Amino acid sequence: MRTRFPPSPTGMLHVGGLRTALYNYLLAKQSDGKFLLRIEDTDQERSVEGAVENIIESLKWVGLEPDEEPVTQSERLEIYKEHAQNLIDSGHAYYAFDTPEEIDRMREEGQKGGNPAPKYDLAVRMRMRNALTMEPAEVEKALAEEPYVIRLKVPENETVTAEDEVRGKVEFKSHTIDDAVLLKSDGFPTYHLANVVDDHMMEIDLVLRGEEWLPSLPKHILLYQAFGWDAPKFAHVPLLMNKEGGGKLSKRQNDVAASDYREKGYLPEAMLNFLALLGWNPGSTEEIFSLDELIKEFSLERVQKGGAVFDTEKLDWLQGQWMRKMSPEDFAGRIQPLVAEKWSAAGEDSDFGVKAALVQERITFFHEAPEMLSYYYEEPKFDMDLVASKKQKVTPEIVPEILTLLSESLTKQEKWDAESLKETLFALAKEKDYKNGQILWPLRAVLTGLPYSPGAFEVAEALGKERTLERLLKANEQNE
Ligand code: GLU
Repeated sequence: MRTRFPPSPTGMLHVGGLRTALYNYLLAKQSDGKFLLRIEDTDQERSVEGAVENIIESLKWVGLEPDEEPVTQSERLEIYKEHAQNLIDSGHAYYAFDTPEEIDRMREEGQKGGNPAPKYDLAVRMRMRNALTMEPAEVEKALAEEPYVIRLKVPENETVTAEDEVRGKVEFKSHTIDDAVLLKSDGFPTYHLANVVDDHMMEIDLVLRGEEWLPSLPKHILLYQAFGWDAPKFAHVPLLMNKEGGGKLSKRQNDVAASDYREKGYLPEAMLNFLALLGWNPGSTEEIFSLDELIKEFSLERVQKGGAVFDTEKLDWLQGQWMRKMSPEDFAGRIQPLVAEKWSAAGEDSDFGVKAALVQERITFFHEAPEMLSYYYEEPKFDMDLVASKKQKVTPEIVPEILTLLSESLTKQEKWDAESLKETLFALAKEKDYKNGQILWPLRAVLTGLPYSPGAFEVAEALGKERTLERLLKANEQNE
């Protein structure tokens, strides 16, 4: 199966576009087929500088690389012109000399005349088509002297039908389809013409795109018929919706460029996993899918018709899952340079792997690592607000006694691993009639200076006996 992703470079690659690319990629790879990229840049006014690079970079980031050189429509203008001409010759298209202003005026008149959808007003259509009744010589003269466009001649009283792979049978009455412009007066094709010509020439088997393109489908089908080509299969996938209050995913509520998520530190694996589940369900409770697993599992039968809610909480959860799935070595390798930027000692730390493993359990973004590991490289300041805790029933009054007990007990401790420390401290709590939390919370808080961190035993083990005792001692002093 050959599939394609044909974005218009009118802005940064949208997350919805990236999902469309993903689905196309999965279906191609599932059949050992090819996934192709086409740049639809025929609307030069709307083209944005840097957009093509952004699209290519974003696809590369998540590993959806096209299997052939990308096709760029602005380099193929002659091909579209020839095809428009062929349609004129075969009677499926016509020259139209009306200027946009004239067409607007005709529509307004139609509206005044009581037609709510003047775009499709028969009278308007007939007047647009007046070149069809002009003498050939007159047409020649007009072509030489006036600006003109080439329009699709939509047949009268027909029903255009198609089988959509997601939505089932779709039907359009021909009077609801306007005589779309195919070639503009500047010689550039419109989306409709270029899209159909290229999908045919690139031998695309399935056109999978966002639901917003469904209204274009009848025009495309008519074009395939006019050219005498077999149409590809079509699948229109649901729109992405805002979480709050629904509606189409908007910039006001979310970042919409894929590269925004990259900059924020999301893993490509998490992003793809998240996008895959926006509109598709695996039919099981499994939620974690790698790209390879998605290639195996994905199917159009499980793509929903209704909009898919863009829930970034889910994305963050998946991000955490993918952080945990990294091998400890890879994870440590990724964060070590970040931490070393802040504390150069981390760069030469032979124990860095142990420390990294502790934060891997709770981290969401790599850039959180320096803060999470700060206490290894910097002595925390004693802070009674942190060390005392209502929740743990640690009042400021009992803190000095607990710190002293901890110092005494841990000075005697010989085996310095989390398991042995746990035994000792649980026994201490029991002996002195404290709750475990009343002993462990102050220890953890004194050692890290952070409201959240791995547990006291793990931290103490990683810091080592000497530094643990040092910090307890200092805390006791600062507290006096
Ligand atoms: N250029 C269109 C877009 O920007 C392509 C739509 C299609 O897949 O046909 O999405």
